Amino acid sequence: MDSKLPSPSSKGLWAIVDCNNFFASCETLFRPDLRGKPLVVLSSNDGCVIARSAEAKSLGIRMGVPAFQLKALFEANHVEVFSSNFRLYSEVSRRVMEVLAHFCPRVEQYSIDEAFLYLDGVLEACSAELCPYLIDRVLHYAGVPVSIGLARTRTLAKLASHIAKKRRCGTFSLALDEKRTVELLSGIRVEEIWGIGRRLAKRLPMQGIETAAQLRAADPFRMQKLYSVHLFNTILELRGVPMIDVGAGSQRRTLAASRSFGNRVTDLADLREAVATFTGQALRRLRSEGLVARCIEVRIRTSYFGRVEFFERKSEEYLERYSADTIAFTQAAMRCLERIYEPGHPYAKAGVLITDVKSPDQVQRSLLDMEGNREEERRTRLMAVMDSINARCAPGDARLRLASEGCNKNAPWRTLKTRKSPDREFHWEAIAEEPGDGPLKAARARKSFPPPNEM
Ligand SMILES: [Mg+2]
Repeated sequence: MDSKLPSPSSKGLWAIVDCNNFFASCETLFRPDLRGKPLVVLSSNDGCVIARSAEAKSLGIRMGVPAFQLKALFEANHVEVFSSNFRLYSEVSRRVMEVLAHFCPRVEQYSIDEAFLYLDGVLEACSAELCPYLIDRVLHYAGVPVSIGLARTRTLAKLASHIAKKRRCGTFSLALDEKRTVELLSGIRVEEIWGIGRRLAKRLPMQGIETAAQLRAADPFRMQKLYSVHLFNTILELRGVPMIDVGAGSQRRTLAASRSFGNRVTDLADLREAVATFTGQALRRLRSEGLVARCIEVRIRTSYFGRVEFFERKSEEYLERYSADTIAFTQAAMRCLERIYEPGHPYAKAGVLITDVKSPDQVQRSLLDMEGNREEERRTRLMAVMDSINARCAPGDARLRLASEGCNKNAPWRTLKTRKSPDREFHWEAIAEEPGDGPLKAARARKSFPPPNEM
């Protein structure tokens, strides 16, 4: 290997903990009667398949296939079909992350169902026992099965978890000697490597690179020239040299909230409600992360597949000062919308993008702006009061919000979810709907959950 390159790491392990068939596992958490049965979860507006249980996978159901194409297959095989219930998934995700944080001081959540854990010192020394124990504890406390991949770098850890899932062995480690690593990597195609997109995966075979082992052996400097520095880093990561740092400098710079509508929308009044709702969501997230921002962009568009000509417009507005004030951002969003709205189009989607995001200590303030500061303080307090009242409500209950968000649950822009599971994790009444005996019935009587492993 090239002497100008850093040498592979021999200390510290990255573990990626990845929930198996996450959304499908969440749906069976409160419906144990569905375990072992084919089950799929659909995207918003019940569009395509976004998650499958192991049994649904073995029926040959693929990710991303539109639900209407699978109707006959669903019926013939008694496949349980669910609309997505992101409130449930993020609650289960929160519980999984909480368990992990209990055992490991450095947890970096990577997606709703994945987290990187850094194991060094004692944790590294006992990783062989720790990983099976973690799998057991997550199942016990959060109720979902996970797989763990272990290696010296994140890229290798992702591949290790890929192998763990394929072999259904729980944990798999790629912190191995070079010969064994190359052997295993030669069985993995480049498109399965973390960070290698579909387009790049199609171009790499032109250089004679089809497997992870071949990419690992490629000249990183040449590949950087041909493609990108990102590929240079990936090659080194495959060689066991840590190059990618997800956690460092990852403060968000933008925050988006958007959704396809359940039905086509033509009225400005409906669009205003939708845009105000998305703005409210984005600002709540901004505040929950302790950040402020100054710019909002509003987009509206018709369907890509409609019979009428495609129409899309966007507009942005800078606020006078940085804040996380829903009122100020909603007013700006409404002005953006008025500028871009054209009557007569069947709108299919709207969204807002908050940009110029900063942490409050990065914002320079003018000392002379006393009047502005007083008003700002008043609004900050108002938002804090709203957030604290809303924190006491169960998700799904009526929330305190701006009147511009509207309250018609049947407004045409609202998402269609015909097969959504009830919000059992927050409402006892929803649990009471469950049929049959078993631990859930006892839990209803006690009004406390049994540990998931008893369910
Ligand atoms: Mg997963």
